[in-house]
Amino acid sequence: AGIINFCANNYLGLSSHPEVIRAAVEALEKFGAGLSSVRFICGTQSIHKDLEEKIARFHQREDAILYASCFDANAGIFEALLTPEDAVLSDELNHASIIDGIRLCKANKYRYKHMDMQDLETKLQEAQKHRLRLVATDGAFSMDGDIAPLREICQLAQKYDALVFIDECHATGFLGPNGRGTDELLGVMDKITIINSTLGKALGGAAGGYTTGPKPLIDLLRQRSRPYLFSNSLPPAVVGCASKALDLLMESNAIAQSMAAKTQRFRSKMTAAGFTISGKDHPICPVMLGDARLASVMAEDMLNRGIYVIGFSYPVVPKGKARIRVQISAVHSDEDIDRCVEAFTEVGRKHGALP
Ligand code: PLP
Repeated sequence: AGIINFCANNYLGLSSHPEVIRAAVEALEKFGAGLSSVRFICGTQSIHKDLEEKIARFHQREDAILYASCFDANAGIFEALLTPEDAVLSDELNHASIIDGIRLCKANKYRYKHMDMQDLETKLQEAQKHRLRLVATDGAFSMDGDIAPLREICQLAQKYDALVFIDECHATGFLGPNGRGTDELLGVMDKITIINSTLGKALGGAAGGYTTGPKPLIDLLRQRSRPYLFSNSLPPAVVGCASKALDLLMESNAIAQSMAAKTQRFRSKMTAAGFTISGKDHPICPVMLGDARLASVMAEDMLNRGIYVIGFSYPVVPKGKARIRVQISAVHSDEDIDRCVEAFTEVGRKHGALP
């Protein structure tokens, strides 16, 4: 009782939105608990097709394909798309699921330094000998709340004839003027070829993931992507949640704007209090502390004050870069944000993180 959650990926508060919950219940009652099948046998209902169409429309793409998770979407795409004659160039801090997906494919692998455009250019030059090049990056990086320089990446991709893939798990629904993601935020919606994202964070928070992009690519994934072919369809209740979440976001971006204002409030108040917050304008607000033990005892003490946050240390983040990762949500009130800042200030002083 009285504990406020500041460590969920529930950026827009849609996981507990009454209309999202009602949509899930209605889908459960009308379409059943589950399909007991993969999509291509008897696991496709009208709601699956409708959700795929809605996702494609939301991102302004030709088509979309659903998976049980974005981990699966990332596991399935590289192997299906790339051959040993191709190359994939991946940011060194990409999410584990992108790394695993790339491991499964037989393409030539290049890893460029985190958001380092010079290094990416060098690697693209080396990769010119291959048939096809795919640059893969998180749109927003979950540990630091930093955003990939997509404009520069797209310019290089154009120069060296490469495709661009982005993972938008920490961007879909709230980054950009209409919440479409980092591609909209940075004005490159027409330059990104492939988007993978999750339904398990801002879009209702239940589960599920997807790829959206050109129709021939989606057709190929339906034929060849192993997590799609060999894993169960999304349950109707989950489909109902995500579908309603997208409806709400396509009607208005008021929820995303309210979250952005609260993020701004938290970041500016914490900075004024003397903390260093990594990233810029993103609801992932890593409070940088350096020392692993400090991050862990401070997080514990925050809980004693009714604020639920988690300390991250090596190996999840590099040595010496321990932090408490705060995540802001549209459901936080201004008072919640202020209470969190006050608790951080008290706890920071107590443990020597602030003077
Ligand atoms: N990609 C990124 C960047 C993530 O942060 C996550 C989840 O933590 C995933 C992919 C996997 O998403 P899902 O939970 O839908 O499997």
